Amino acid sequence: MISATVSQLVNDKFQEAQKNNNVVFKKLDSKNVKDSKTSMRYSVSLVPSLIEKPEFGQTDASEDPLAASEPELLVLDDLDGSGHLKLVLNKFPIVENHSLLITNEFKDQLSALTPEELMTSYKLITKMDNEDENKRHMVIYNSGPQSGSSQNHKHLQLIELPQKFIPFQDTLTNGKDHFLPSIKDEPLQDNKVSFAHFVLPLPEESEEVTEDLLAMCYFSLLQRTLTFFQDWLNETPDLVKSYNLLLTKQWICLVPRSNIKAKSLNVGFNALGYAGILLIKDQESFDEIIETPTIVDDLLLECGFPSTAGIKPNEYNY
Ligand code: AMP
Repeated sequence: MISATVSQLVNDKFQEAQKNNNVVFKKLDSKNVKDSKTSMRYSVSLVPSLIEKPEFGQTDASEDPLAASEPELLVLDDLDGSGHLKLVLNKFPIVENHSLLITNEFKDQLSALTPEELMTSYKLITKMDNEDENKRHMVIYNSGPQSGSSQNHKHLQLIELPQKFIPFQDTLTNGKDHFLPSIKDEPLQDNKVSFAHFVLPLPEESEEVTEDLLAMCYFSLLQRTLTFFQDWLNETPDLVKSYNLLLTKQWICLVPRSNIKAKSLNVGFNALGYAGILLIKDQESFDEIIETPTIVDDLLLECGFPSTAGIKPNEYNY
């Protein structure tokens, strides 16, 4: 069982940590823009404090900052009563109350999510969404060296979506009933955006969302995601499996990843980028994106794979 007051616990801890400078959080500017070609909306934030956040490979392999959490950041050492996950504030938050779900025992960030981890994430999201109807939450999982992850200790991230922000996955799933993919029904892809992504609408009633259902959704999307690595291995033999998972109360989405950073502009993405939430460390790139939002679709493609919308899978696919 997740505590009925989990939102309050997170919020109290965050206010305290911010007051005492236990979290490194400085957002200078934030703007919403829309790409007129793809209709994708972007929430673009200039967050120079992210320069202090260690990037992938920068933490000494023997160090594990997520293992022994600072007491000032620890919200709950047993999130759901199973003893498996703790809830900890992110030391380098990108929004208020940004938290991490971290396995108490070390597990590798490359390992697949378990049905229990998915269910706990979903329950946490629904609990927090239900507590305040003006707020929506998303859990993300960055897995693999090109996914934008920076720590090897298994963890998911919980964020509140920016107010009134509409990720493109909302529009894609709007009015669609839940289904599991089959030969006839492929996962949803928005044919206006250029990068591959696989989305499934979840049942509207949260009582219908079970551990088994979430696991079936995740593994069927993971299967399609892994197919990219199989298909591209001849061209790029060094390619290592990397992907982002995004989960809200309404949908689940997986995005296969080829690069952590774009080469054409000094911008990197994790799962948040593939919901349209862009965290930019320098003013120059921020200004360029605000002025020409259409470049973002190219950047996201550069860090992902080409969309397969409308292409039927063949017998060589997983
Ligand atoms: P990822 O980048 O997806 O691997 O997520 C790891 C997260 O851990 C990042 O968002 C960091 O901001 C955060 N982080 C790094 N060091 C610490 C720490 N000592 N305590 C809490 N969070 C941390």
